[in-house]
Amino acid sequence: MCGIVGYVGNRNAYDILIKGLHRLEYRGYDSAGVALVSPSGKLNVYKSRGKVSNLEDYCKDKDTTGGTGIAHTRWATHGEPSDRNAHPHFSEDEEIALVHNGTIENYKVLKDALIQNGCKFQSETDTEVLVQLIEYIRTHNDCSLLDAVKEALKQVVGAYAIAVIEKNNPDTIIAARKSSPLVIGIGEGEMFLASDATPIVEYTKDVVYVKDNEIAVVSKTEPLKLINLNNEETKVDVKTLQLSISQLEKGGYPHFMLKEIFEQPSTLRDCIRGRVTEEGKKIIISGVLDSKEKFLNAKRIIIVACGTSWHASLIGKYLIQDMCRIPVEVEYASEFRYSNPVLDDRDVVIAVSQSGETADTLAAIQMAHEAGAYVYGISNVVGSSIPRNTDSGTYIHVGPEIGVASTKAFTGQVMVLTLLAMAIAELKGSMPKEELDKIGEEILKIPEYVKQTLELNDQIERLSLIFTYAHNFLYLGRGYSYPVALEGALKLKEISYIHAEGYPAAEMKHGPIALIDAEMPTVIIAPNDHLYEKIVNNVQQVKARHGSVIAIVSEGDKEIKNIADHVIEVPDVPECLTPIITSVPLQLLSYYIAINKGKDVDMPRNLAKSVTVE
Ligand code: GLU
Repeated sequence: MCGIVGYVGNRNAYDILIKGLHRLEYRGYDSAGVALVSPSGKLNVYKSRGKVSNLEDYCKDKDTTGGTGIAHTRWATHGEPSDRNAHPHFSEDEEIALVHNGTIENYKVLKDALIQNGCKFQSETDTEVLVQLIEYIRTHNDCSLLDAVKEALKQVVGAYAIAVIEKNNPDTIIAARKSSPLVIGIGEGEMFLASDATPIVEYTKDVVYVKDNEIAVVSKTEPLKLINLNNEETKVDVKTLQLSISQLEKGGYPHFMLKEIFEQPSTLRDCIRGRVTEEGKKIIISGVLDSKEKFLNAKRIIIVACGTSWHASLIGKYLIQDMCRIPVEVEYASEFRYSNPVLDDRDVVIAVSQSGETADTLAAIQMAHEAGAYVYGISNVVGSSIPRNTDSGTYIHVGPEIGVASTKAFTGQVMVLTLLAMAIAELKGSMPKEELDKIGEEILKIPEYVKQTLELNDQIERLSLIFTYAHNFLYLGRGYSYPVALEGALKLKEISYIHAEGYPAAEMKHGPIALIDAEMPTVIIAPNDHLYEKIVNNVQQVKARHGSVIAIVSEGDKEIKNIADHVIEVPDVPECLTPIITSVPLQLLSYYIAINKGKDVDMPRNLAKSVTVE
């Protein structure tokens, strides 16, 4: 995961790098570090365990001058979070500094060979092998840093986005990528680089998304140059950023997570804009129109995703099977890629990832391509790897999501999957048009329904006080509400560190029911749908064992209201739209429980937002 930033120009690099690291901190916060070439020609490296603010404290009395620098915020994969393992890593002669996002799979072999040649290592990271190898090649072949980086990368197996600077060539950064994201910003007499565009947007809108196996020569004085590992120049394709700074700030909210929860009426409006027209009677998803035949002839659809996106995908399964009558499988990308999947050119694979950079999902896409399947991508980040590596797809358009626990991206993904299912159903004629039109009309009202749901904020905040010190939670749901239960439990685990389990409500009696007692709250998602009567039974079963029930029900509920201990009433919507509504109170419940416990909800321990490592 990790975030990398680089700057070369006439400003003070340190200020730009620190600001950039704060923007990228969602990617990891095990340690932070910076390397700067000072005006006197020194290469200063400062690093510190923990968050970027620790690094700032550490640097207070240090020389932070210089117009060229690279910086890093780490999510450790190899070696514990510590000062020593923090990036940037120095070459042994302290002439070269390097930051890295990714993992070097053959680091052990390379490290052993370098040690045999007398090289001494300072850290336990896989990354250090890169900088030592670059130094080794440069001194033994007497070549430029660019050539040494190129040769080193030919020997490396794994994933990387790197930025490298050297003491004796202060106006240039050499950067490269393979399977980890890297964006370069082009300014006037200055250049920026970063893991995503957020550290760059306030300086320039002109960006280049570096492709796999490209090396960039990022210089203050020369135009951007890209080459491949065979030393051939590749095209510099400048794109214009569609991102504003206000989207990256908290806008008066105490946390990004709360801001993002409350943004959902507008993010859902953005998500459906232009896609639901004629008062709900026409659904236009451009990617589906482009690949109409593929969806119509699909023998099966496989959705691959990880984490929260996997939960959204599971809802996608219910939607597509219900509306389109196409069999759907939902796979964890990390399992799918190693499960020897049986795939062919009649399969359609849908890859879902907020960041568009999830390493396992990208690997699954590659396998699907190799098997001849058609691949459709759903992501949030424009220009990220998934949209660039899929046959067609669509964006969820919910704006940058910074809180590590996903909220608005989840509802955006579910919305896009709903529209996708509707578009295919219309093309296939697998569902009566009047029914589709009715859902379309309701979709136009979803932003308003979510707004009404958010008015329950105070009730949920009060409720959270009762359950802050519970040690375990059970979340139950059936049908469309089952993935919502999984997502509700995940949200609570992620930010409050309370153990929570999501389960299909009817399966409870095959095991989890043994856990129920007066100490363990059960959250039951029970909107007005065709399984309502069934879930009433499940509520009874929990109550019969003296469990405490928090129920999410639809307005107008009659039965559960009388049995559950606490009831949260949300707007009554068609069954297929319930997940978008019922997930919102669960987001708020997790948020307030975590706040009551004094947890850092935007940066929960051990987590990072965009999982660009295996
Ligand atoms: N493998 C490197 C480390 O552990 C970088 C980790 C990452 O990009 O997540 O330091």
